[in-house]
Amino acid sequence: MTSRILLSSPHMGGTEQKYIQKAFDTNWIAPLGMNVDGFEQELAAYVKVNAASATSSGTGAIHLALDLLGVGTGDLVFCSTLTFIASANPILYLGATPVFIDSEETTWNMSPQALERALYEAKENGVLPKAVIIVNLYGQSARMDELMNLCNKYSVPVIEDAAESLGSLYKGKQSGTFGKLGVYSFNGNKIITTSGGGMLVSDDEQLIMRSRFLATQARDPAKHYQHSVVGYNYRMSNIAAGIGLGQLEVLNERIAQKRAIFKRYEDAFTDVDGIAMMPELEGTFSNRWLSTMTLDPQKIKVTPYELIDLLNEENIESRPIWKPLHMQPLFEGCKFYTHSDEQIVSEKLFATGICLPSDSKMTIEEQKKVIEIILYIVLAR
Ligand SMILES: *Cc1c(COP(=O)(O)O)cnc(C)c1O
Repeated sequence: MTSRILLSSPHMGGTEQKYIQKAFDTNWIAPLGMNVDGFEQELAAYVKVNAASATSSGTGAIHLALDLLGVGTGDLVFCSTLTFIASANPILYLGATPVFIDSEETTWNMSPQALERALYEAKENGVLPKAVIIVNLYGQSARMDELMNLCNKYSVPVIEDAAESLGSLYKGKQSGTFGKLGVYSFNGNKIITTSGGGMLVSDDEQLIMRSRFLATQARDPAKHYQHSVVGYNYRMSNIAAGIGLGQLEVLNERIAQKRAIFKRYEDAFTDVDGIAMMPELEGTFSNRWLSTMTLDPQKIKVTPYELIDLLNEENIESRPIWKPLHMQPLFEGCKFYTHSDEQIVSEKLFATGICLPSDSKMTIEEQKKVIEIILYIVLAR
């Protein structure tokens, strides 16, 4: 039995346990402690922001970000539609109303022209959104210049969901550092992991200090337990942060490995009419967290679902592209702005896209096997 080839699994660097041991030695198992402080400082230095706050999940960090921007009951929040549910669930936690924005083809991320129409109409209706959540899918940065210009024009703050794009660059600047607040995730399948966790970053140190206050039950400075606003229990543990410190040491290596995996797929499929790898917008550098591609149904006679099933029979894990949030039963009836009258880009990507095994522990031989099987299936029909 050969072992299963995975989509993306935890890949330890080797020094993680050193940091955990330090936590044990000093009995700083919890709460917080020096690993958390160190992880926050080192991540902030890596992405070049003023401040960072480690959280128990990326979802929690998005929840805090929305709370910090004053999002509450009945408020509107715009969000990329082509993303994981975690980008938008916190909008519902706060009783706010999501409005979904379609993708565009050069990045698969938020369409500036759809956002422009959505902002224009919101202004006409007299209710602008309290925030715009811009997602950077599979490591690829959104068209940040155009999107930020629009949000600045309407004075709407941006939360960058960079859960999948840690270490990616847009015109030389780190993904996740464009908006008022940025969010990373260290869930088990992300490019680096803390076994579960997230990070909220900003150049506004006051905002990050406030996020730490909210994330530790919003306890007022008093001798007794006193609380004036709703708080959360969202801080990262000192053990998890120890894993994070070890993982940060190998982040650049992981990015290089993920990009090499993508390149091997790209080289192998370049001559296949009907297979298109996910683009990398000029001036951007993707961490290529997951290698993804689309199959043109006019030219390739196998659907993504069939390919996923056939690969599974060979003990190879692959996945569909995120199902757009405007198509989810949970968000039925929510407003949605398409890229154009003729084109719903996110739905097309969902119908034709597939995420390929992108595990940095995958050997070249294993990837060759994946490629051979895909070529065999695709060319046989
Ligand atoms: C993983 C992910 C999140 C959530 O992060 P968790 O740490 O799992 O809570 C949010 N947004 C996107 C786009 C993600 O891929």
